[in-house]
Amino acid sequence: MNAAPAPRSTFQPLTTERLLIRRFLATDLPALLAIRTDPELRRFQAWDAMDEAAIRRFLESMAAAEPGVAGEWFQFAITLRTSGELIGDCGLHLLAEDPRQAEIGYTLSRQFQGQGLAKEALRAILTYMFQRHQVHRIAAITDVRNRGSIKLLERLNFRREGRTHQAFWNKGEWVDEYLYAMTASRWETLRENRARTRTKQETATKAVLLGTGTPNPDPYRHGSAVAVVVQRNEEGKQSQGQAYLVDAGPGVVRRAADAAERGTPALAMPGLTRLFLTHLHSDHIAGLSDLILSPWVLERNETLVIYGPQGTKALVDHLLAAHGEDIRERREGLEPSNDQGYRVEVHEYEAGQIYRDDFVQVEAFRVEHGTWPAFGFRFTTGDRTVVISGDTRPFDGLVEHYRECDLLIHEVYSAEGFERRPPEWQRYHAAVHTSTQELAALATIAQPGLLVLVHQLFWGVSEEALVAEIRAAYAGPVISGHDLDQF
Ligand SMILES: [Zn+2]
Ligand SMILES: [Zn+2]
Repeated sequence: MNAAPAPRSTFQPLTTERLLIRRFLATDLPALLAIRTDPELRRFQAWDAMDEAAIRRFLESMAAAEPGVAGEWFQFAITLRTSGELIGDCGLHLLAEDPRQAEIGYTLSRQFQGQGLAKEALRAILTYMFQRHQVHRIAAITDVRNRGSIKLLERLNFRREGRTHQAFWNKGEWVDEYLYAMTASRWETLRENRARTRTKQETATKAVLLGTGTPNPDPYRHGSAVAVVVQRNEEGKQSQGQAYLVDAGPGVVRRAADAAERGTPALAMPGLTRLFLTHLHSDHIAGLSDLILSPWVLERNETLVIYGPQGTKALVDHLLAAHGEDIRERREGLEPSNDQGYRVEVHEYEAGQIYRDDFVQVEAFRVEHGTWPAFGFRFTTGDRTVVISGDTRPFDGLVEHYRECDLLIHEVYSAEGFERRPPEWQRYHAAVHTSTQELAALATIAQPGLLVLVHQLFWGVSEEALVAEIRAAYAGPVISGHDLDQF
């Protein structure tokens, strides 16, 4: 490329622990040809096989290209730092009509998959694009059958925003695709959190939001439910781990199945065996029948163990009685079934340490949410502390339970939206829930690694405005949670 013109602003290579991400060079031809002619790699990709001449033309076009130019693609070459070998590439396209928005594509040579290299590369490229080129949003579109790509995007915390049906013609068939996206503010918030997360521990803990809704029937927010999932790190690999569900709002079983499909196998039906209830409001328990029965029908062969406040035993007894005919028919009829999976063991707890096993220790703390017993939980594992507020108003002493936690998953309502509520409702909300201003004050004292908003009561305020209300009085990382987000 001796005749290449001097680039407008030279792209400097990005370095990560194992990778050097640079611009393409003419010498990449054989390695790129191997990647672009691998039929397995191509299967779910929009591009077709390229011959040597096409690769050469592509490399020539990339010699003078720069990232961050509206309407143009820039292709990053992903290479190993140790050997210099080209192992894949990542393309980024800024929309011509709005260069604050981009689309990303990526390919990793098959022999280098499964080692976290694509994640490492994309992390560096996303950070570079968001910080250096002030991109606002990066979208990724993937074939719904491309499990590797889906897993990668989920692990990078891209949000799945939608699914198209037979909207793209690829390699002789109509295909369905998922649209994923990441915004700059979400990326920066999660980056701060990652920086705090201790790595290389015995366990790896994450929280998956299964339902972030309230009694308002928002189709995108199912009833309250969070899963704390703890995996064990064994010789560089993670075990499937154990899931601990907190609350069972309507939709919990289907959201768990979705999370399992996206790469959290601990949330597959047979694994749904531990449930902790914060309180007995219907938006937190209306999915309980489903959680008792459906996983059993789908071959859960273990008793469901529930830790709940006073009243849980009566609730479960009545549910089992209500579904008595269903249980009898499935057990006595022709349907293959086991005799264990529909059974429930209930422990009614008081404040204090209520559960402990090899993975986790769970402490329940009393909250103020009406006249009945209601609780929040503090999960302590080998690598993290996760606090889930349940539904509560702020009160003296509450913040003590939040201190030094890595993740604070908290209910909230908009202080601005509150002003528009009728007086009788204002009285109720203020007595049982936490406003953005109140939560900002709590978080300022507690300093959680990451504050995640759930059970959001917007009352007409936008999500961006809700987060801004918190940020006005709290400087730490905060994110407004959506169903199936994981942190
Ligand atoms: Zn609630
Ligand atoms: Zn409630």
